[in-house]
Amino acid sequence: MTKWVYNFDEVEQAEAGVGGSWDGVRGLLGGKGANLGEMYRIGVPVPPGFTITTEACNAYLENDESFPDDLLDQVATALGRVEGKTEKKFGSPENPLLVSCRSGAKFSMPGMMDTVLNIGMNDEVVEGMLEIFDDPHFVYDSYRRLIQMFASVVMGVREEPFEDVLAEYRERRGVESDSDLPVEDLQEIVVRFKDIVRTYAGREFPAEPNDQLRMAIEAVFRSWNGKRANDYRNAAGIAHDLGTGVNVQTMVFGNMGDGSATGVAMSRNATTGEPKLEGDFLTNAQGEDVVAGIRHTDAIDLLGKEMPTVFGEFRDIAGRLEDHYREMQDMEFTIERGKLWLLQTRDGKRTAQAAVRIAVDMTEEGLISRDEALMRVQPDHVDFFMHPQFAADSKRDAVARNDLLATGLNVSPGAAVGMVAFDPDLAQRWAEEGKPVILARPETKPDDVHGMLAAEGVVTSRGGRTSHAALVARQFGKPAVVGVAAMDIDLSERTLTVEDRIVHEGEWLSLDGTDGQVFSGKLDTRVPDIDDPWLTKLLSWADDVRDLDVWANADYPVDAERARRYGARGIGLCRTEHMFFEPERLPLVQRMITAETRAERIEALDGLLPHQREDFAGLFRVMHGYPVIIRLIDPPLHEFLPSWDQLTSDLADLKIRLRSASTLQEMNSLLEEIDQKTRMLGRVEALREQNPMLGLRGVRLGIMRPSLTRMQVRAIFEAACQVTREGIDVHPEVMIPLTAHVNELARQREVLEEEARAVMKEQGVEIDYKFGTMIEVPRAALTADEIAEYAEFISFGTNDLTQMTYAISRDDAEGGFLIDYLSGGILEDNPFATIDRDGVGQLMEIALEKAKRVRPGLEAGICGEHGGEPRSIALFAELGLDYVSCSPFRVPIARLAAAQAAIVSKATKEVEAEVVLVD
Ligand code: PEP
Ligand code: MG
Repeated sequence: MTKWVYNFDEVEQAEAGVGGSWDGVRGLLGGKGANLGEMYRIGVPVPPGFTITTEACNAYLENDESFPDDLLDQVATALGRVEGKTEKKFGSPENPLLVSCRSGAKFSMPGMMDTVLNIGMNDEVVEGMLEIFDDPHFVYDSYRRLIQMFASVVMGVREEPFEDVLAEYRERRGVESDSDLPVEDLQEIVVRFKDIVRTYAGREFPAEPNDQLRMAIEAVFRSWNGKRANDYRNAAGIAHDLGTGVNVQTMVFGNMGDGSATGVAMSRNATTGEPKLEGDFLTNAQGEDVVAGIRHTDAIDLLGKEMPTVFGEFRDIAGRLEDHYREMQDMEFTIERGKLWLLQTRDGKRTAQAAVRIAVDMTEEGLISRDEALMRVQPDHVDFFMHPQFAADSKRDAVARNDLLATGLNVSPGAAVGMVAFDPDLAQRWAEEGKPVILARPETKPDDVHGMLAAEGVVTSRGGRTSHAALVARQFGKPAVVGVAAMDIDLSERTLTVEDRIVHEGEWLSLDGTDGQVFSGKLDTRVPDIDDPWLTKLLSWADDVRDLDVWANADYPVDAERARRYGARGIGLCRTEHMFFEPERLPLVQRMITAETRAERIEALDGLLPHQREDFAGLFRVMHGYPVIIRLIDPPLHEFLPSWDQLTSDLADLKIRLRSASTLQEMNSLLEEIDQKTRMLGRVEALREQNPMLGLRGVRLGIMRPSLTRMQVRAIFEAACQVTREGIDVHPEVMIPLTAHVNELARQREVLEEEARAVMKEQGVEIDYKFGTMIEVPRAALTADEIAEYAEFISFGTNDLTQMTYAISRDDAEGGFLIDYLSGGILEDNPFATIDRDGVGQLMEIALEKAKRVRPGLEAGICGEHGGEPRSIALFAELGLDYVSCSPFRVPIARLAAAQAAIVSKATKEVEAEVVLVD
């Protein structure tokens, strides 16, 4: 016989039934049911009750919404045990037992399914309760709540007619809260509520308690398939076949006068992580009142003053629960006439800042290990410390001012403040005028991308976590909230409406992409502190356990300084061409490119040399003692020249002006300009390529223009000699980009070594340097053994390697078809963001294996953008790379992700070793 029902004191039986795993118990009883059983087991006061399993829910739903044969018998038996424990009787007027009926799935789905309280009341029970409790206000208030909740949850009657009646009485009495209505009103309300049920449901409110219970259980089962719950599961990635448990529990009452209360509390501060109980409570109130936000709640500290003994007991229990679960707990409690009951406990949700502090504090309190602390903090949490967020008090004030308009899905973190624009062109125009903009659309399409890029943040009323808006926003690091169902966007009226609040185009909005909230008005932002002491400690633990080193991509000394401050131990990529774009250097670069004679070119290069030398010397000084990889110029030369379109339109313009020139001087100067631009156009045309990214760039450029290579190498070595004399410990590594064939490398090495030797000889200084190449072309990966003959190090350029492996132009695809590929499920992840394990990853594996066979001590790293992405970092750790190199802003994230990769790999090896032992 299947056991469908477990009393709270039968958690051990449930555990045995699923082979002892706690995850299995949560799957069978739901998270809430499992924790109620667990609390009972460790002696926390829990009102007696039982849980109907998720299996029963699934059986009910699969079987055309009918109960398994023996389910109701098992419910009756379990209820009998509850009656025994409480010494009360369900449905008895003399000594009535009332119960609640709540949903509880394996994974928390807050507010998505149904709850009914006070089950077991009818007119006779009410009479009995009036005698027992001598508190008619409490009795009628409980009764009207049952009818209202039961009608709406179980019988499908809308809330409005009930609320209208309550509002009418409140207005008549001039009170704000339902609990301030006198008993005679509550008595009348009960009668009117029953009328509403009769009118709207076409049947009587069921007076028989067993009918109430049965119907409530069915309603909770059915709510698993309700639209709200379905949408939530889709958004949160929860499987649809888990089913919900149903918890039937003895009612305890927080609304029995001033010695009674109800509240919710966290065992630590969920915003800051401070180890101090935090929460709200209400005296003389029932469960839902606290969360419903109708009455003004009191901070939990006040409970310590009002009911010191109960408060002390609660604090002890919170501590015990934390010790037991080794996690911060989110608890619901009720105090009934001075007696404390715990109704629920679960792991508490928290901000990133709190997550870090709690993990570190719990480690230092001896509750969890360092490895556990490192695994509990998500790399995204670390990202929080790098971006602007709303100041906590500013958010609190906004909520108090009623400026929180609505909540949606938190798909891209960070805070954004701007004037709302309803179309992408307007967003772009305002942004160009220097106005901060929030783009609001019902949903976004590829045509909207320019507006999204111009905006500070994006909000949509439709769409889920993989919608176009969510994907694009995450990709470009724009804070975004999507699927704000309560928000109605009227594109013709240019308004955004949430209930009776209307926001017009041009008014201010504040978006919290971290929590998924939309506020009206301007909230204050602040950048959280990267030097937060708990984060610093956690990252130092990460450094102790990780095998992968973390370096940074940095072109300028300021970037290098930031990289070091964030914990980088090397520069994995300095893109030297970025320095060429500086305004005072670009004319020199252009002269070098357009030079018609060798002498002219050398002169331009000589002009560039001191600039490059200074750049490199600056980097070396900052990175004192650490390696610095400098990559020789990579992009095609036309990128440094004006565009063909621009030049032809300028020339047409100049020729028109020439026709109307009135003086000889004006004519001469125009002719000179025309001549200059025509020559430039000639060069641009000569350099023009059909596929420039597959053209004369990277190592090919260095081969065709050896003087350019010589200038860059000279600048590197002169700078290295100069800082060595200053006492700086310098380790330059010269990197050749885009190598495809070993001969390219051999040729470049010759030029490079000759120039390097010449400089060291001139300067009389020996530099400890390395020569190596990027692996960013599949051919280079496949012939890495040949390449390793010449390269002392390799660095995977996974941006180009992905582009070349997929034959996808990143610049074009990410704003175009790639979005359809992702939302249509052709690709699961954007391969430019998360490394393509099967394709690019395999090429990397082959390259490493081949290259290390030839040169066992080869230094190998990665400097594509994947170097800062946690899932990619896990693969790089598996491949045994020496380091990842990423943007300085990603360095702290990479440090944690690398530590997590090491911990997971250690755990996997331990499991494998155990399997071998068992075998
Ligand atoms: C790469 O291709 O991964 C790389 C780092 O080079 P770039 O992004 O400069 O092309
Ligand atoms: Mg590249």
